Amino acid sequence: VSDNQLIVVSNRQPYRHTETESGIEVERPTGGLTEGLDPAMRELGGTWVAWGDGDADDAVVDSNDRVLVPPEEDAYTLRRIWLSDEDVDRYYYGLSNRVLWPLCHSFPGKIEYRGSDWDRYKQINEEFANAVIAEASDDPVVWFHDYHLALAPSLVRAQLDTQATLQHFWHIPWPVWDVYRVVPNSHTLLRGLLGNDRIGFHVHRYCQNFLSCVDAAIPEANVDWERQCIRYQGRAITVESIPMGVPVEDIQAEVTSEDARAQAAEFEADHAIPDEARVAIGVDRLDYTKGIPERLDALAHFFDANPEWRGKLTYVQNASESRSRIPAYREVQETVTDAVSEINEQYGTDDWTPVVYTTKRLSRQKLLGLYNEADVAIVSPIRDGLNLVAQEFIAAQTSNDAALLLSSNAGAHDLLGQHALTIDPHDTRQFSSTIETALCMSPHDRRQRMGDLRGIVAQNDLQQWVDSQLDVLRASRQVRPE
Ligand code: UDP
Repeated sequence: VSDNQLIVVSNRQPYRHTETESGIEVERPTGGLTEGLDPAMRELGGTWVAWGDGDADDAVVDSNDRVLVPPEEDAYTLRRIWLSDEDVDRYYYGLSNRVLWPLCHSFPGKIEYRGSDWDRYKQINEEFANAVIAEASDDPVVWFHDYHLALAPSLVRAQLDTQATLQHFWHIPWPVWDVYRVVPNSHTLLRGLLGNDRIGFHVHRYCQNFLSCVDAAIPEANVDWERQCIRYQGRAITVESIPMGVPVEDIQAEVTSEDARAQAAEFEADHAIPDEARVAIGVDRLDYTKGIPERLDALAHFFDANPEWRGKLTYVQNASESRSRIPAYREVQETVTDAVSEINEQYGTDDWTPVVYTTKRLSRQKLLGLYNEADVAIVSPIRDGLNLVAQEFIAAQTSNDAALLLSSNAGAHDLLGQHALTIDPHDTRQFSSTIETALCMSPHDRRQRMGDLRGIVAQNDLQQWVDSQLDVLRASRQVRPE
């Protein structure tokens, strides 16, 4: 066994045990983080601390709440944290998703702060921190993820000696100081994160915002802007930007499979998409940050201004239901449903539905098949930490014959903006005319742009992201070349 132990800490777990008629089954919850880190954990071993949200999770753990995963390999330990219904309501739906999510996406008007949610957030962060401390041995590298766990790093720091390396990846944007300061306890959250040695964000802008918040809020912290580092309590904390990537090779292998093609064909048949129609696609969690109503406005404008495209362009919107317990999410669900019906009533005909709208989460195969079939992808968030869908769409192109419309407000735009077609989600006329540009672009231009985009996505793939974050661990282990 190695001398440096890896401990990953995230709200979501990589494996979930559920009760079924034929006994306990293991599922793999989907999501970039769990899919990306699981292979690294299998390779490196260690412990993953996460919320056990499956109904049979507690039946398979030992007396220390541990279970070895994956089931067929026993490659690493999953240490589960238990949350009561009230914990979930206050820590997860409350402070995490009614306060930190809108705050960090710069939607202060959507913040719903309750003091009791804050108390519970603190308490659950303590539980995560205590589990990390219990699991830690031999100078661990502890890797925290995301906004659910902002307070845990400083709690762990207080208990572990300086040989431990603590690092955090913040998967959502970091807002400017003038927005950040509106939330109660904003200083405490910053101090929590300053327990880390390294803090990662997707793009440079978020690093700058974070540094300026620290600069303004924490008098005893010293920000070195040139080195992107903070001196605090005798330690140096590095702040760095590295955008998360997608598993390019896996996507390319899967997208050409029979199964992906068959599933896409089945989807098109089920939804009566005419064979000759061009297809544009949008895939989002149904979240107010994703700009779906604004996108539908642009589409209505497009069909109004370009009657020659009626019957010739079908827009597929997959909007998977999310966080419906929160009123702001239910509101956007209603707005979107109404806007889709309006467009379809106004422009649809007996053999053409302008907007095909689905709300079920699509399987990976179906999604990849649809990406590959589509002529255009529309990724138009009001604000988005990065956006993996944009990168998956690019990775799934085999002939390069497709275009990407990308909001300048998505973190992904910092990476891909030069070769995508940039839109401003609020500028309906410009958005609508960019849809037309995408459809009328010469095949040569389209291929050129998509080729360039594929180059960037391949260079920044998921493996590269994981490796760059685990370099400390690998260096300390002095991995021998095979
Ligand atoms: N996704 C999926 N099925 C769906 C919709 C989305 O598997 O029906 C996946 C999608 O492929 C992507 C992720 O969910 O990997 C969404 O990530 P993104 O960064 O675009 O947005 P987030 O939901 O994290 O805000």
